[in-house]
Parts: sequence; C-alpha cells; structure tokens
Amino acid sequence: MTIGLYIHVPFCAARCSYCDFYSTVNDGSRVDRYLKALEVELERLPPDFSPDTVFVGGGTPTALSVEQYASMLKTVRSRIDFSNVIEFTSEANPGTLTPEKLAAMKEGGIDRVSIGVQSFNPEALRLLGRIHTADQAVESFHALRAAGFENVNIDLIQSIPGMTPKAVLADASRVVELAPEHISYYNLIYEAGTPLTRQRDAGQIVPPGDDEEADNYYAVKDLLESAGYDHYEISNFSRPGRRCLHNVLYWQGGSYFGCGPAAHSHWNGKRFGNVADLADWCSRMEQGARPFDEVEELSPEDKARETLVMWLRMLEGVDATQFEQCTGFRVDDLCGGALRSLAEEDLLDISSGRWGLSRRALFVCNSVFAELV
Ligand code: SF4
Repeated sequence: MTIGLYIHVPFCAARCSYCDFYSTVNDGSRVDRYLKALEVELERLPPDFSPDTVFVGGGTPTALSVEQYASMLKTVRSRIDFSNVIEFTSEANPGTLTPEKLAAMKEGGIDRVSIGVQSFNPEALRLLGRIHTADQAVESFHALRAAGFENVNIDLIQSIPGMTPKAVLADASRVVELAPEHISYYNLIYEAGTPLTRQRDAGQIVPPGDDEEADNYYAVKDLLESAGYDHYEISNFSRPGRRCLHNVLYWQGGSYFGCGPAAHSHWNGKRFGNVADLADWCSRMEQGARPFDEVEELSPEDKARETLVMWLRMLEGVDATQFEQCTGFRVDDLCGGALRSLAEEDLLDISSGRWGLSRRALFVCNSVFAELV
C-alpha cells in the first residue's frame, strides 16, 4: 500500500472569495518561523518513514519567495528519505510563477506541478477573487512546459455563477487545447463563512440550478473523454499513466503524514489534524508539544467502511479481492445489502467482482455514500 507525505504551506498572495483552506496572506514576516517549525515537524516523523508520494500544497507554495521556496524543498529533501518517492508534486498559482521559481522547482526535484487556473473566463476569475488573468494562466502553463515539466495538472472550477453552459464548455475546450497530463474539475462549493457564500446568501449572485450543474458536469465529462482523457475519479481526468498517485493513495485508504498548520494525517489507524493556526502550530513545534489536539482512532471496521466510500470515488470501482487484501474485510460483509439496493436503483454497477458508481450516480455521489456509512 502506498504511503504519502503532505506539506501544507499556509501562505497565499491574496485570499480567494470561495476558499476555506487555512492560509494567510504572505507579508513575508512569518515565513522564516514557519520554515523552522516545518523542519522540526519533519524531524519528528518516524525514522523509518519513507513515502512513495510527496505533495506540497496549501495555500500557495509558490507565494513564497524564490529563496524561501528553495529552502522549503531543501528542508523536505534533507529530512525525508526520498529513496521510494515516485511522485513529487507542488501546487502553483498563475501570477506567482517566475523563471527563478520554476528553476527552484526543478532544482528541488519537483516532477509534477498542479496549477490553479480555475477558469479562463474574466468575469468568473473576478468573482472568485483570483489574482491572475486567463492570459497569465496560459503563460504560466507554457512557462512550465518551457522549464521541462512534463506532468502538469490544471485545476478548473465549474458551476461558477454567471457562466452559461456555453462558457463552461469553452473553459473545458481551452484546457484541452493546452493538453495537460491531468485535469481536476471541481464543482464550486459554498463553504460556510466565505465572502462568496455571503454574496449568495445576500442574493447578489445566483448559482446555477442542480439540473444545469448536472448537465454541465456530464457535458464536460464527455468533452474531456472524447479528447482522450480517462475520467478516473469523480472530479479527475488524466492521460494514460498520469493519475495523481498521491490522491489515489487517499482514495484507496493509504497512510500518510501531513505537516504544517491544518495538515491532516492518517497513520496506523489513527487520524489527527494539526491546529489550523500558524502561530499556535509554530509555538507547539518550538516547545516540543504535539501539533494536534485530538487523535481519532478508527475501529478496523470503520476504517474499512471509510476506505470503501473513498475508493468508490474511483470510476473503475472497488475490486472485491484487492479491497479484502487491503482492509481485511469483505465488501459484501460490510454493506452488501446496501450496495445491492443501490445497484437496483441503477446507482451502482456490479460487474466482474467490482463495485462502481454508475454514470447517473457520479453527480449525486454524496447521497450514494450516505447510504454506506
Ligand atoms: S484558493 Fe488557493 S490561492 Fe485562493 S485562497 Fe485558497 S489556497 Fe489560496
């Protein structure tokens, strides 16, 4: 089973209107303390920890200065055994990528870059509070290619208020023209407490209805598949052999450590989340205290059930034999009755020992998962 390391870089150039990830605007004053604390947390990982995948996310890792970014990668590489690493991803945002930063990425061994484009539509970018234009996003993508990055993901968001179905498809077509190896296509979520949610609640913006969202979802799916992308997870598409291995690890119940404020870990059946406060997390690292408050211990059955639901996110479905080898539980024993009812409602496909979401279920997956936990 694959194991992973996630590094949370809690800085952004500015806060986007829809985002509830933990990050603060980088005014430069707190990064050095963060980097020292990160080194401490990495040093505390088990001595035999040797991940297969490393993912540097945030926040916006590339909101750090070149020196800070290079220093962060150097720290990670010097404190972690990289002998098994098969994928080393960094997130990046248009507007924060300079030639020097691209060079630092290469030098630090990054071999996969995930770039937050979100949309090519100027109105949508303004509404989302992005700091970049569509042209800057395209320039950043070409700059990544010119710097030699051959494994690039583009993040897009759909169901942005004001975007017509035609505009949604125009975004998808534009990303196909760029031909990245991987595309993540998420629905816009109205998280509690964000400026965008307040705008919606005040009636200043009107999200598309469920039917329109579903139509957009399936139209984009069909377009990307006809362009040769494999739709392998509810919101993710890739060229053959270019799945995001780090995320596959999450979906298939793998173990991982997360370092940095607000980072989550799942290790030896225990789950813990670091405090979502930069100063508090730094103090805990400086004082030798643990970075999280509570440890949740899942029973083997709860862990297996959770793994089943996560694994069902993958369109190839859950292989019954592989699942049993990984979790020690038979799918049938865990929730065979519920699965068969879902299959009768045409929400699950059962074929050749695999359980997978039907096409119809992809857009309503949360209600399917609710039946299984
Ligand atoms: S969406 Fe990304 S860039 Fe925007 S505030 Fe959130 S973490 Fe930062």
